[in-house]
Amino acid sequence: MAVFPYPKSIQLNRGEGWLQIDWQDGSSCQYPLAPLREVCPCVQCRGGHDKMGSSHLDVDLLQIPLAPSRSYDLVEILPVGNYALQPRWSDGHDTGIYTWEFLYSLCPK
Ligand SMILES: [Zn+2]
Repeated sequence: MAVFPYPKSIQLNRGEGWLQIDWQDGSSCQYPLAPLREVCPCVQCRGGHDKMGSSHLDVDLLQIPLAPSRSYDLVEILPVGNYALQPRWSDGHDTGIYTWEFLYSLCPK
């Protein structure tokens, strides 16, 4: 099993709408919240989706839909064990588990 970087620190800026993760390998990633919600890996968000079957790595993190119907405000972000984060969005959606591996792969370069 591949070893993925572990986060050193996680910072949520609700005012400006981003989540920042500093990784132990020294890299630092700032995730805009809207695309982060769009790639929510939970069954509810992915089920029946036309991207189903393709890798979530293909999702363009900078692609923001013109008519968003979801909430992009992050209320809080909870740790899941030592392997993932579980964001709770202001519309109550909280079933997405974002593993470190997933987050690291999404890192905007
Ligand atoms: Zn979801």
